[in-house]
Amino acid sequence: MNESPSSSRNGDILIVDDQPENLQILFEMLTQNGYEVRRVIDGKQALVAASSEPPDLILLDIMMPFLNGYEVCQLLKSQPQTKDIPVFFLSALNSQEEKIKSFKIGGSDYISKPFHVKEVLARIDHQIAIANQKRQLAKQCDQLEEINQKLTRSNRELEQFASVVAHDLQQPLTSLIAFSQLLKAERGDRWDEREKTYIEGTVEASIRMQRLIRDLLTYCRCDTPDIPLQLTDCNRILEQVLRDLQPEIEAKNAAVSWDILPAAIAEPIQLGQVFQNLIGNALKYRRDDVAPQIHVAASEAGQDWIFCLSDNGIGIPETDFDRIFKIFTRLHANQQYPGTGIGLSICQKIVESYGGKIWVESEVGVGSKFYFSIPKNPEFDPDIN
Ligand code: ADP
Repeated sequence: MNESPSSSRNGDILIVDDQPENLQILFEMLTQNGYEVRRVIDGKQALVAASSEPPDLILLDIMMPFLNGYEVCQLLKSQPQTKDIPVFFLSALNSQEEKIKSFKIGGSDYISKPFHVKEVLARIDHQIAIANQKRQLAKQCDQLEEINQKLTRSNRELEQFASVVAHDLQQPLTSLIAFSQLLKAERGDRWDEREKTYIEGTVEASIRMQRLIRDLLTYCRCDTPDIPLQLTDCNRILEQVLRDLQPEIEAKNAAVSWDILPAAIAEPIQLGQVFQNLIGNALKYRRDDVAPQIHVAASEAGQDWIFCLSDNGIGIPETDFDRIFKIFTRLHANQQYPGTGIGLSICQKIVESYGGKIWVESEVGVGSKFYFSIPKNPEFDPDIN
């Protein structure tokens, strides 16, 4: 006997028993309590009914000819469309081994015959409530995943847009700077003071804009997917960065020291950018009349390398420790310390794309320590670059 299902209020239950009259009371109780009940008399019919229209719960007798309840349950659990349906075993076999076996093969409950109908009903209600919550949760997870994908997509589109705009702005800006400088050179000393202020203001503003565009472009490009990472000798990267910064180091009478650094899995140009931004900041945010002292060190912490760049500069208030890594966040006016507020967010983006983190410890008037971690990967091919 195979009764067709219709839309149910509380849930749809499939009863599988070769002697369904045994379950007549349960059947009546379930229907009275708002459940839709289908009944089949053997395992084969159960598999067909469950896969054609998966019920919310299956009450499955163990002792049946041909396919017994355990075999039916194993088959249900092996199919994607039926594997999540809760199965309650019904059996007169009341041994501990049978109960353990039924849970091992994926049963959700074991009901011994003869059973108390009210108790069984309470268990079914409970199981159906859990299943509903699970479904709700899965739906919310799917929605979250969809929102996440949309956000990732629009974020990437925005970054692509910013990258294109920044790139296209570069050319006219370069011309603007070049023409202003030509004008300045051509007129030589024949400017009056007012004209001089105007032209110098134009050049300065254009150069600031150029820096902003350059930093924006770096920011947009620094986590492009599929950038190949390689085992990178950090000493070589640091030496190159210090060579590039040498004129500023000398001009500011700075002392830079470092420990021997490890090889880390990174992209060499990006890692250089991180060192460059952090050391550049250490030189820039120095205290008046105090020569900058900068030290670069690295240590091992579990599965990570931790790099530390310390300075004796102006320091940062604790309330700003997190804020300064957000793009365009600056704690000072441009006249006091020029900048775009993008450098640390570039460092953060790069380090996080390697699975690492960046953070700061600092004391105002004493100095700052910028830390960043890079995961070690023991499976990585050790070709040092
Ligand atoms: P920028 O230097 O262009 O402003 P950053 O993103 O590199 O942008 O830094 C953000 C802010 O963090 C800076 O404006 C500055 O206020 C603060 N900061 C960064 N590095 C240091 C440092 N070594 N010492 C003190 N303040 C710092």
